[in-house]
Amino acid sequence: MIIGVESTAHTFGVGVCHKGKVLANVRDMYHPAIGGIIPIDAGKHHTAVAEKLWNQALRDAKITEKEIKGIAFSYAPGLAPCLLAGMHFVKAKAKLLGMPVIPVHHSIAHLEIGQSLGAKDPVLLYASGANTQIIAYAGQRYRIFGETLDVGIGNCLDKIARAMGFPFPGGPELEKLALKGMYHELKYSLKGMDVSFSGLQNQALQLRDKGMSPEDVACSVQETAFAMLVEASERALAHTGKKELVLGGGVACNARLQEMCRLMCTARGVALFCPGKPLLVDNGAMIAYTGELLYKKKLFISLDALDIAPRQRTDQVSVKWK
Ligand code: AMP
Ligand code: MG
Repeated sequence: MIIGVESTAHTFGVGVCHKGKVLANVRDMYHPAIGGIIPIDAGKHHTAVAEKLWNQALRDAKITEKEIKGIAFSYAPGLAPCLLAGMHFVKAKAKLLGMPVIPVHHSIAHLEIGQSLGAKDPVLLYASGANTQIIAYAGQRYRIFGETLDVGIGNCLDKIARAMGFPFPGGPELEKLALKGMYHELKYSLKGMDVSFSGLQNQALQLRDKGMSPEDVACSVQETAFAMLVEASERALAHTGKKELVLGGGVACNARLQEMCRLMCTARGVALFCPGKPLLVDNGAMIAYTGELLYKKKLFISLDALDIAPRQRTDQVSVKWK
């Protein structure tokens, strides 16, 4: 029984996993009063809700603290005040309960949880707020085959939605608007395997200022940005010869992105694995699930060595549990 704590950005989550099965997955999201995430405030939010969510996860899993074998937490990458809130909470719990702590890299957890659906050796399209990467495993590392050169896809969508007056997170609002919109050609920016969204974002904001309807802006941005992601993913599949695509990150909740991925995968004879929303967005269950993989290899960290790594990249992690 492994408990996992997620706190890299806007969401504080606690999950419980046992033999690869998710027994609990609860979360609480920080909502800024206006504008985008204020890291210090998000950290305070996490500290305020931590104990309540911890207890809720134990209740949902129908276990007591004594049955837990290890505490996993996301130490990277993310916003420092948010990561610290999670780390301090986990450290106190580990001290109190005398349990080992398992450090889990957040982006890798998005990938591993997709493999709980049955994928063996996939390419991952990780499309979240701040992170946008195309990842696959090769030689003891999760390699980044392509990534955003500037803003993350979710942040891009959120910023455009904010300019239209929608609160954070705006991605789901754009998805609804896009259903009623018409497509206009926008900047398609795929450089090698990397994508860039800042030009598209600015163009969308300018077109909105010039009077293009929110529906048309939403539809055009989605079609353009998602096509870039699907093309880069397809290239990674072609290059690696892998036959599975896993989706991860909050933006992967988008039905149009899922549909575009499905079309590409069907055409290529590739299997598509898309977790349900509670496992796509930032969550504690994926941290617990990945923590269990590390636990089996005794990849613990001593309390004195506990630390966060806000900018650690996916490909800097030596994968010792595979
Ligand atoms: P994450 O950082 O992985 O928790 O994902 C959060 C991001 O996902 C935010 O930028 C949201 O706007 C975005 N998001 C969530 N649901 C959707 C959706 N249905 N369509 C587009 N973006 C979404
Ligand atoms: Mg994430």
